[in-house]
Amino acid sequence: MELAEFRAGLDAWLDEHADGLAPPSRETTLVEDMAHLAVVKRHTFDAGWMRWGWPERVGGLGGSPLLRAYLGEALTLRGLVEPGIYSMAEVLVPTMLDFAPAALAAEMVPLLLRGDETWCQGFSEPGTGSNLASLSCRAVRDGDGWRVTGQKVWTSLAQFAQRCVLLARTGTPESAHRGITALFVDMDTPGITVRPIGAMHGAEEFCEVFFDGVLVPGERTLGQEGQGWAVAMDLLPYERSTALWHRAAFLQRRLADLVAVAAPDSLDPDDVGAATELLYAFRARSRATQYRLAGGDRLGPETSVDKVLLATAEQAIFDLALDGVAAGIVGGDDTTSSKWRSQYLYSRAATIYGGTAEIQRNIIARRVLDLGAEA
Ligand SMILES: Cc1cc2nc3c(=O)[nH]c(=O)nc-3n(C[C@H](O)[C@H](O)[C@H](O)COP(=O)(O)OP(=O)(O)OC[C@H]3O[C@@H](n4cnc5c(N)ncnc54)[C@H](O)[C@@H]3O)c2cc1C
Repeated sequence: MELAEFRAGLDAWLDEHADGLAPPSRETTLVEDMAHLAVVKRHTFDAGWMRWGWPERVGGLGGSPLLRAYLGEALTLRGLVEPGIYSMAEVLVPTMLDFAPAALAAEMVPLLLRGDETWCQGFSEPGTGSNLASLSCRAVRDGDGWRVTGQKVWTSLAQFAQRCVLLARTGTPESAHRGITALFVDMDTPGITVRPIGAMHGAEEFCEVFFDGVLVPGERTLGQEGQGWAVAMDLLPYERSTALWHRAAFLQRRLADLVAVAAPDSLDPDDVGAATELLYAFRARSRATQYRLAGGDRLGPETSVDKVLLATAEQAIFDLALDGVAAGIVGGDDTTSSKWRSQYLYSRAATIYGGTAEIQRNIIARRVLDLGAEA
């Protein structure tokens, strides 16, 4: 299917099903957002829309990845899904396509796309974020499988997740990036404990996850033993670029809302112009990335530019909100105010998740601009 045909068909379908897809209320908790996301995914999958842009071997209907990018944009622009929780498939599925055994990908990916399951990404640890190569959660051989012991942290949505894409150390402690293996772990396996962490924006979005001698079958290895770094380097460019495309639609909606409701004379038109420019800079870059992917390019370190632009635009827009709806953000206790406050606070995370702003700039300097190694 071509993009124009997909857009027209999807828009008409969304108009027709607007009532059935609408969130239950304006003020929803994360638990309700997750439940509603599952409903939207199920309807869009069963009607075919969610399957376009993914290969047939994992339950898709084929076609360009631009189709699924437009789906995310349309759902976000209409306020039918929350952008952060929607993006997990865009982060994890491309890597499943590249590294999971074919039968595993064919069995599992449709469950995520249809909203029957939630998955999480177990990379960061208490002592390991930017320096991922130093991770210490350990997997040792046990028969044909692995036994995993250690801790992950900041694992988004782990309390809802049925599966985890986990990085574990299988080499010596000194093996750095060479001694890491990626595993696909069932979250109901005995020995896994998940503890949600309250975040300042008011939701328990991420968790600590503890692994105590957790048995993972050998066929759940993603790629080969010791190939975990390649898995991570494959996944992170999606997390830093294409998975953020529909976030621009959310930001566009919120910028328009802000201009509409801001207190008189509270917004400096120059600041509004600058924030709009930043948002469109991200959109232009992100669109080019989507087209590169659709054209068969492999995404790499250049996607750090997308991530920097997204974080810069998001924080500029919510800095403006702090001017335009100041009273609400600082002290309002109505639904609208708490939404602005929560989104303002969450915008601070944009320079942290998916790799911090400093790390993105290091990558751009060294791997894109070839400005030399760290001293
Ligand atoms: C909302 C949110 C969701 C997240 N979800 C997940 C998830 O689902 N799964 C997951 O695995 N992780 C997740 N994370 C964790 C995220 O990937 C890490 O927080 C991030 O990579 C930074 O690591 P850190 O927190 O350990 O900070 P650190 O690496 O300790 O960095 C601390 C500070 O030092 C700076 N710094 C560190 N090294 C350098 C350097 N070499 N040069 C310059 N500056 C440097 C950093 O930029 C930062 O300002 C999430 C984080 C957030 C905020």
